[in-house]
Amino acid sequence: MPGIYSLKGTVKHYDWGGVSFIPSLLKIDNREKKPFAEYWMGTHPFGDSLVNTGGNELTPLSHIANAFPFLLKILDVKDMLSIQVHPSKAGAEEGFAKENTKGVPLDAPNRNYKDDNHKPELMVALSDFWLLHGFKPTEELIYTLLNVVELRELLPIFNHSGYSGLYKHVMMISQEEVNRILQPLLDNLAVANKESEPDRFDEDYWVAKAAASFNKNGNIDRGIFSIYLFNLVHLKKGEGIFQLTGVPHAYLEGQNVEIMANSDNVLRGGLTTKHIDVPELLKHTKCEATYPSILSGEEIGTHEKLFKTSAPDFQLSVIDLAAGDTISFTPITTEILLLTEGMAELDDDNIEVRLGQGNPAAVAFTGQVVYLAAATRSTIFRASVPHLL
Ligand SMILES: [Zn+2]
Repeated sequence: MPGIYSLKGTVKHYDWGGVSFIPSLLKIDNREKKPFAEYWMGTHPFGDSLVNTGGNELTPLSHIANAFPFLLKILDVKDMLSIQVHPSKAGAEEGFAKENTKGVPLDAPNRNYKDDNHKPELMVALSDFWLLHGFKPTEELIYTLLNVVELRELLPIFNHSGYSGLYKHVMMISQEEVNRILQPLLDNLAVANKESEPDRFDEDYWVAKAAASFNKNGNIDRGIFSIYLFNLVHLKKGEGIFQLTGVPHAYLEGQNVEIMANSDNVLRGGLTTKHIDVPELLKHTKCEATYPSILSGEEIGTHEKLFKTSAPDFQLSVIDLAAGDTISFTPITTEILLLTEGMAELDDDNIEVRLGQGNPAAVAFTGQVVYLAAATRSTIFRASVPHLL
């Protein structure tokens, strides 16, 4: 099916979401301040997009496009998300089969594997964005364990048994031990924070926020250790980062565009009220020094930059146009186009689709030249599948 059509995604109202970013993009009046956490575009069974093919009724995208190997999202993170790790393809296949054999229902709260797929993820920031990403390099980690006095007792464990020994330790000690170590730390922070301005470049800011959100009945969330053990990464608008299989990560705050393999496989490691399966988490976590690689995109045209990753499931690029600019391209696979700023028109000499507030997304099928013209300065993301040359 050739052509271009406007596309309507699915909103997810998870309670960590912000109340204005996504409503403004979709031109929705959100006077009641409902959280709008995610906007999904693709053919996922929990969010099959709708396509306007010209008739009176919208058509589910899955009816006219083969299932996309990826899911494209917009996220508005107001409150931090859980620490998580995604399994490899082989790990997911094994875990999914095992849970099926055991008869754990797909929707059970203790179910780890929702499908047999891996879930590499790439995100590009639409605002200042903070996240945790992989373990700190050795020297930095040692510096933290020396500097945060309440954590000094962890240093000999790290020196003796490395990243995996240290991580295993903080994830396996009893809740009483967690409270014994972290309670004085939180008490000291509470005193210090009264006197200082909030500083998002400081781990203590996120620790205080996590403690306020996730501590229950006097039990301190052990995910707080990870805020000190992992890299705290700040991305500026337009910068990206790739979450490779096994790299622990957590989104803390900000808005982004995210693209991932079509999967729901998440192993959690704290900052959550949801199920944590520690042995399964440890099996899949890359316990090693991680140097965050911040992607700024490679120029692939005068107006287009590609965020290159090793994922075979998706490809994401961004097009920045000034008012009056027009470019053309021919989709090689079915693509989703998503405008995050400005106003633009898509045209294939047959159909015209206006992209802007209220109608930010379109799907473009292969085979025809597509023209993209910007009425004002515009930013358009292009999601597709890497084509084999
Ligand atoms: Zn993730």
